[in-house]
Order: sequence, then structure tokens, then C-alpha cells
Amino acid sequence: MNVHEYQAKELMASFGVPVPKGGLADTPEQAVEIAKQLGSDVCVVKAQIHAGGRGKGGGVKVCKSLDEVKAAAEAILGMHLVTHQTGPEGKLVHKVWIEEGTDIARELYAAVVLDRGAERMAVMASPSGGMDIEQVAEQTPELIFSTRLEPGQPIWDFQCRQLLFGCGLDAGQVRQGTAMIQALVKMAMAKDATLVEINPLAVTGEGKLIALDGKINFDDSALRRNPDIAALKDPTETDELELTATGLGLNYIRLDGNVGTMVNGAGLAMATMDVVNQAGAKPANFLDVGGGANEEMITKGFEIILDDPNVEAILINIFGGILRCDVLAAGVVGAAQKIDLQVPLVVRLEGTNVEEGKRILGESSIQFEVAGSMSEAAAKVAAVLGGAA
Ligand code: GDP
Ligand code: MN
Repeated sequence: MNVHEYQAKELMASFGVPVPKGGLADTPEQAVEIAKQLGSDVCVVKAQIHAGGRGKGGGVKVCKSLDEVKAAAEAILGMHLVTHQTGPEGKLVHKVWIEEGTDIARELYAAVVLDRGAERMAVMASPSGGMDIEQVAEQTPELIFSTRLEPGQPIWDFQCRQLLFGCGLDAGQVRQGTAMIQALVKMAMAKDATLVEINPLAVTGEGKLIALDGKINFDDSALRRNPDIAALKDPTETDELELTATGLGLNYIRLDGNVGTMVNGAGLAMATMDVVNQAGAKPANFLDVGGGANEEMITKGFEIILDDPNVEAILINIFGGILRCDVLAAGVVGAAQKIDLQVPLVVRLEGTNVEEGKRILGESSIQFEVAGSMSEAAAKVAAVLGGAA
């Protein structure tokens, strides 16, 4: 789960990380009111969306008067902000964060990340902050310093010093930076974050370190033990189809391909993603209907798949166990009766009551192709899409 910059900053501040003072607004009038209270000569108006690259997209405006704050808030609120992370349709901005301006001397980068390959947390820092860190990693990898944490251990001072002297900071700044990194690591551990990223981590004209941006991703599976974090979820940032699916108890994740998939069991669903890719096609979604799905859930799941305008073909891959093939078939027929099914359907059924399931589908008016194996199913779906089988 991602959170907004303002939420990240509030959480970081509660762990002792220096951040600029600010307030949240959903109208230009509120924005002006907050700017007045901050009483700073310069204020920054920042779009709150779950995407980076806001600065380049026009979602961050430095303002030198209350009139400028008003104009910036008017321009940003309600805009569809397009950045390299949003896709061409952009993201609708509901809220802006107004904060006191900072006199920036240098922009650094700092992050705490879960390094899955190493099975450890890692801390990274770079003197080249402010811009795309991906670009720095590609073009000047020697400017990214990193260190890994031993499981169950804190980050030691010497590790912080290595990172921060690498960034060219002086001794006093290294002391501030060490406290900051240690606070970030403590926060990441306490709240089960998989990524904490500060870009830019500014050095001010007075030589103080301050977090000007904050991006945090939390481990969804750990939200149960962090109710304070779970409460930060912004439903407007969640895909609508995913929200509907969650409400129905379906495990649905939208992807960017065009093959809608309905599968039972997370392992089989992942294997299905793999065979679809191997056949040269791309899944439009991951949908695990689970073992206990009933006819109504199957119908709703099928409707959700079809509500995605990118879906050009559907692959149903069910291994009937607790979810019997006849229940699945009845659910699909139920959905197809309500909706005029316009896209090709490939079905691979195996397991409990498979014959009954095939009979129900066969006697319905639905057009579909049967596949005997998973790879055959994927090849057939790729073939109907004209992809390389
Ligand atoms: P992002 O583009 O989504 O990563 O948004 P950022 O919060 O990183 O803002 C983009 C850029 O705006 C930063 O790299 C800074 O140069 C600038 N910026 C952000 N916050 C402030 C601020 O408080 N004061 C000033 N002067 N510039 C800021
Ligand atoms: Mn940033």
C-alpha cells in the first residue's frame, strides 16, 4: 500500500525526521489560509497523488505570495496530473499540501528498501538527488552508495557514515544524516515498510538536512498489525475494479495486458500468468476466485473481468477441487446471460465434476473453445488474439 507525501511526512516527523511545516487543503481558499498561518515568504503547493515525477508534470509550484498560492492551488486541484508514473490519462488531484519553502543548497537521495534478493533491508544514499534516481543508477552507478542491514540488527553509525561521507557531507551534516537514517530504518521496521524514499533530501543554505519529499510503500500483508497505517489508505487511489473485487472477497489485481483470466488458487493463477506470457500474450488481470467461490462470486468475477475495457479475450483455468467445475460453469453462464459476451473465451477445466461443468457450458449459448492443458489454453488464447502462439 502506498500513502501520500503528506502522510509520509507526518509519519516520518513522528519518528523525529525533520520535514517542512505544512497543511493539507482541498480548496484554494484553504490553501491560502494555510499559507497565511505558515507565515513564510515562500510556500510550495504540491499535488497529492500516488505517483512520482509530480514536479516535472506541473504538480509542484513554488509561490512567493498568497495570490500565487491561490493561483497554484486553483491550477493543481482538479487537474489530471500526468507524470511518467501515471499513464497518459493522469491522476485526478483531490488535495494539495502547502508547505513552507526551503532554501535548497543541495538535493540528495536517501532510501530504505527491502532487498528481496538479499533477503535484507538495505539503505541507499546518493549525492545526485532531486532527479530520476533510475537515471543516476543507469548512467552514474558509482554515485549510489548502499549498505545492507543484518537481520535483527539496527543500522550502525559506521554504515551511515559511509553513506553520508559518500554524499560529500561535512561532519556536522553526517551527524544529522545519521540520526535521520536511523529514524527512517526504525520507522520502516516498526511499520513494515518495503520502501521509504526521500528524494530530494535537501541540504539547506544553513547546512541543515530536511526531507522535502517522502514516498512510502507498506507491506499489504502486514497491515493487519499496523491499523494506524491501514487507516491511511486513500480509496480514491485504488483501482475501482480492484475495490469491487475486494468487497466480494475476490483476489483481483489489474495488469496491463489484454487477456482476462479467471483461475482458482493463487499458485495456479501465477502459473497461468506465466503460460500466457510464454504464449506471447499478456494478462489483463490476476484473478484468484479462491476455493470457496460460489456461483454468484463467479458471475461477479466474470463481470469485473469484462468491465476492464482492455480485455480482448478471456481464459478460464480452473482445477475443480472445493470449487467444483459445475459451479464455475453455472456462474459463467449466469454472467454471460446478463452481459452480451463479445470477446472470445477459452476454457480449461479439470477436476471435480468436470464433465458436468463442460455439459453446462456446452448446452448454453456461449461460444467458447475448450483446451485440454494449460499450455494449450494459453496457445489458443494467443492465437485468437493473433499473437505468436
Ligand atoms: P516529485 O517530482 O513527485 O518527486 O515531487 P518532489 O516533492 O520531489 O518535488 C519536485 C521538486 O520540487 C524537488 O526536486 C524540489 O527541487 C522542488 N521542491 C519540492 N519541495 C520543495 C520545497 O519545499 N521548496 C523548494 N524550494 N522546492 C521544493
Ligand atoms: Mn521527489
